[in-house]
Amino acid sequence: MLVIVFIRLIDIAEWTFRSSKSQFVSGKVGIVRFSAGSIVTALGWASFCVLFIEDLIMVEYATTVMIISSIAGGSPTVLAASRNLSIIFSTLLMIPLSTVSLLATEQYQNYLGLLGFVFYTIMVASSLKVSSFTREALRVKNQNIQLRNEVANKGNLVSTVNVELENATTKLNDINQDLELEVKKRTEKIFQLSNVDSLTGLKNRKAFTAQLDVLIEKAVSNGSPVALLFIDLDGFKKINDTMGHQIGDRTLIEVANRLAAFSDLERTGRWGGDEFLVALPYSDQTTAMSIASAMMTSVAQPIHVSGNELYLTASIGIALAPVHSLNAEDLIQLADLTMCEQKQSAQRKPRIFSTELKSKIEASQMILEGLQHALERKELYLCYQPIQCAKENTSWAFEALLRWNFNGKFIGPDVFIPLAEKSGLIKEIGTWVLNRACMDAKHWQFNQTAAVSVNVSVIQLMDDGFIRTLDNILRSSGLPPERLHLEITESTFVDNEKKIRAQLEQIQNRNIHVSIDDFGTGYSSLSQLQTLPVNYVKIDKAFVDNIEGKGEAIIRATLFIARELHCKTVAEGVETKEQAMALSAMGVDFLQGYYFAKPMKNEDLIVWQNPISSFSD
Ligand code: C2E
Ligand code: MG
Ligand code: MG
Repeated sequence: MLVIVFIRLIDIAEWTFRSSKSQFVSGKVGIVRFSAGSIVTALGWASFCVLFIEDLIMVEYATTVMIISSIAGGSPTVLAASRNLSIIFSTLLMIPLSTVSLLATEQYQNYLGLLGFVFYTIMVASSLKVSSFTREALRVKNQNIQLRNEVANKGNLVSTVNVELENATTKLNDINQDLELEVKKRTEKIFQLSNVDSLTGLKNRKAFTAQLDVLIEKAVSNGSPVALLFIDLDGFKKINDTMGHQIGDRTLIEVANRLAAFSDLERTGRWGGDEFLVALPYSDQTTAMSIASAMMTSVAQPIHVSGNELYLTASIGIALAPVHSLNAEDLIQLADLTMCEQKQSAQRKPRIFSTELKSKIEASQMILEGLQHALERKELYLCYQPIQCAKENTSWAFEALLRWNFNGKFIGPDVFIPLAEKSGLIKEIGTWVLNRACMDAKHWQFNQTAAVSVNVSVIQLMDDGFIRTLDNILRSSGLPPERLHLEITESTFVDNEKKIRAQLEQIQNRNIHVSIDDFGTGYSSLSQLQTLPVNYVKIDKAFVDNIEGKGEAIIRATLFIARELHCKTVAEGVETKEQAMALSAMGVDFLQGYYFAKPMKNEDLIVWQNPISSFSD
């Protein structure tokens, strides 16, 4: 038994050592080794009982029973982890001892043998119970370990994920920062695109209007006015047309810089084309006027672009907030209208919006509204003024002049024609005039050869549908084309010369004659006149009025030019016999004016008799 115990101690020591060194030891091998040790121990005791119990004296027998019972008593607890081993161990210890004791000769041994069986039964029962407890406890323990491991694993996973999350967050922050930077850059770019005029770098319409609203608000709160200057260049179009857009663009940039020097970029804007806006905070009328005058002088200084020396002038209209308006858009409109007034006037100095101008604008608006319904309300009608042949004093043509009876008040064409041109109404009105004039002329029984001379606005002439309209009217009225003359004002030839020439050629192809009206008042260059297909030149009334003075030289010069260009001449505004005689003597072909007749209605014209028998004597 000592040998067995010794071997088992070595076995346990080796087992513990290897386990402590965390070398791999299979659990199953350990169980087999431990079970084998236990069974061999039990077999040792069983053999001892079977072989020697007969020869034992009472003390030895009692000691043996005590030792075996004690070992067996401890086995349900010690071997509780394995129910089978515990039962086998108890069986091997108790059954041989109890059986041998029961079969022994001594009666006390028989009793102890019997008690041995009872003890064995209790042992087995408690083995079953204890082992089931222990197994459950082990199962729970293992489960716990497993759970702890799982929790530990999950914990590791969570920390790995956390680290990854932290990395991702850092990355995201970096990306966000880049993105914010990009968004900022793009926002700035969008701001530039939507608020800044790409050519000049000044504020565009939208941005300037918004800025002006802010300045007006400030002006109201601090009680000092803000002046708005509307600047329009005179003659810029000519630079653009004759020198090309590149030079035009560089000229605009130079002008923009000159204007910005009087305020700053924030308060300077480009309204479009050659129109600029400058806002001047803390400026009353006097300050605004002197700054605007200085601007005019600055713009008038020579501009050097690509080796060219260019000269420009500017027209400036001024409106002030809060006196004239509290709204940026209104203020701009008022300054614009004031600028237009300034441009039309001969004075070369800035103009400030005034109440008179306001009533003028309101009156224009009223007239324009009335004009929109003038045709349908049949308020428009034509008058005809004879144009006499200078030599024979016979009626060569009759000029159709438009009249408007607006609510019983006569409004002159000088007032409403420019408004009709600006609003585009001229196309509709002009078509009506052409149609009416051709219809009337067709029915002039008193003179079947005289032409009707119709004033045509350049806006009508430039319209792509004009030639078609002309054809339609000639067809429907039945008037021969050679009995229709068109009068086009000289000043309008300046712009769009190419298109005008093309249209005039088409008109000439139809045998319709063309007059240049108000010759000498506009800006036509002689070279332009040379190339334009026209038949007559109408000398303006201003020169006829002044025939005793410088007018004569101008008329003679005009007659010379007209002759060179193979054009005939008409003198307008002939009011006296002397004028008629002088003009006729100079060689003017046709005469028109109050001396012969004032413009009259068609029904009066039919019965009109020329009161002048002769003026040549
Ligand atoms: P215009 O074509 O130069 O017409 C001549 C203007 O001088 C007419 O004024 C006529 O009444 C006026 N007049 C003629 N003889 C005399 C005179 O001896 N003394 C004075 N003081 N004036 C004289 P009106 O009818 O007021 O027309 C003004 C302008 O309006 C015209 O100038 C023409 O440019 C324009 N206009 C008239 N009717 C039409 C039209 O149907 N269409 C277009 N587009 N313009 C028209
Ligand atoms: Mg005319
Ligand atoms: Mg005229």
